[in-house]
Amino acid sequence: MQLLKDRILKDGKCIGTDILKVDSFLNHQIDVALVAEIGREFARLFAGLGVNKILTIEASGIPMAYATAHAMGDLPLVFAKKTTPNTMTDGVYSAEVRSFTKGTVSHVIVNQNYLGPDDTVLLIDDFLAHGEAASGLAEICRKAGAKCVGLGAVIEKKHQGGAEKLRKQGLKVESLAVITSLADGKIEFDN
Ligand code: 5GP
Repeated sequence: MQLLKDRILKDGKCIGTDILKVDSFLNHQIDVALVAEIGREFARLFAGLGVNKILTIEASGIPMAYATAHAMGDLPLVFAKKTTPNTMTDGVYSAEVRSFTKGTVSHVIVNQNYLGPDDTVLLIDDFLAHGEAASGLAEICRKAGAKCVGLGAVIEKKHQGGAEKLRKQGLKVESLAVITSLADGKIEFDN
């Protein structure tokens, strides 16, 4: 998505070789027109798969998941909540998610009332790095008996290998900007 790549080049900031900061338009201050366009693009890429629910993880996935849910015909949107590992997990589906950016492990949970065997789910997130967050969400779908068809990632960091891992699990992965390197403070795209 050229609009997104241009914006990343203009306003994205590399933190070392692993992290891209996009706080000025996606993760802290939000460019709602850009996010609406992102939602329409995901709706186009995942049309015809019978998706009836969008699932993301709090907090930074919510705006793009909302835009996608709206663009796909006002589908219900569920966001998994992050809890500490010793929180009670009655009545919820849970999975463990490791964060390489923060160096933490959290449990993510979804209330059992909001996901079930009737659901065909599309995962949406802001970043795809090592694929841990998306794998956790896919595991929650499996536990709920829901069908998970794919992941829409706004920004994929290809060199961190998440997309390959998820495709091996049978998910359709679509990323709107694919970064191949953040070395020397320079953002490189794959095309
Ligand atoms: P993964 O689980 O695929 O390793 O990482 C995806 C999650 O980590 C996303 O939900 C995102 O919030 C966070 N993340 C991973 N890499 C980056 C990054 O370069 N910048 C920002 N802002 N968040 C990231």
